[in-house]
Amino acid sequence: MVPAVAGNSVVNMSWRSLLSERTLLLNVTFQPLSIISVRRAVLLVLAGKAETLNCSDEVLRSESLEIQVPSVVRLNYYVRAPFRNRAPLHRKALFARDFYLCQYCGERADCIDHVLPVSKGGRNTWENMVACCRPCNAAKADLLLENSRFKLRRAPYAPQPLAVAVAMKADVPLDWECYLPAALTLTA
Ligand SMILES: [Zn+2]
Repeated sequence: MVPAVAGNSVVNMSWRSLLSERTLLLNVTFQPLSIISVRRAVLLVLAGKAETLNCSDEVLRSESLEIQVPSVVRLNYYVRAPFRNRAPLHRKALFARDFYLCQYCGERADCIDHVLPVSKGGRNTWENMVACCRPCNAAKADLLLENSRFKLRRAPYAPQPLAVAVAMKADVPLDWECYLPAALTLTA
């Protein structure tokens, strides 16, 4: 139970069924800023700091308040968002960038390969790591790419943070799409 402020009264709402829900937060300029929890989105709307642009079908109810779950909210003021063009590198994000597909054979990936092997000075970077299936990983071993039969399906790159956040969401709501520029959509 999370307290939310409505008028002068503090109400409690049951959020349990909505824990997995997320809301797309836009700047006043409609620039996508981040993906936030439904709880934070509702609090922004109730505080008058944001307006709801799209709702999901679900409704939050308390004794004194009924509110549709926001799917997209837009801030009523401008925030200067620091532009970061490289997402933090971690395992789940890397799999999301590569759509869980082996970047050598296209089968489902279940491990990570260093393109330039660690034993030959390869680093943990977005540009040197790809999702990979076990058979390819084992066969490539610590060979240099040029000395192996393997070819990358595309050059590994560092995606934008929000692109990773969107890709890691299991089901991207349809109503987010018109607010997400192509640069924030990962390409296979
Ligand atoms: Zn493979």
